[in-house]
Amino acid sequence: MQARRVPLRMCTGCGEMKPKKELVRVVRDKDGAVSLDLTGKKAGRGAYVCPSPECLRKARKARRIERSFQCRIPDEVYDAMEAELSRCEPPAPQGKEDPEN
Ligand SMILES: [Zn+2]
Repeated sequence: MQARRVPLRMCTGCGEMKPKKELVRVVRDKDGAVSLDLTGKKAGRGAYVCPSPECLRKARKARRIERSFQCRIPDEVYDAMEAELSRCEPPAPQGKEDPEN
């Protein structure tokens, strides 16, 4: 048995512990704006969820992300994150597309 440990994080949706890199980080920045951190580089408080819209919906329903951030998350933010997740659900395409518009 190897003692090597993979850092595990809990999905706020299904509650499963998974390696950090298999989860998507949801970040609340210093201005209180909540968004998905698909690059893992955003600063702020993070919560984790499986890269699946279903888990995000579960987390939304149970308000687990809000509890962890201690703030309200508007519906449109959830909707946007859900849309973003459904878009990147199949193994993240490494395209050059810039989601900013
Ligand atoms: Zn999950």
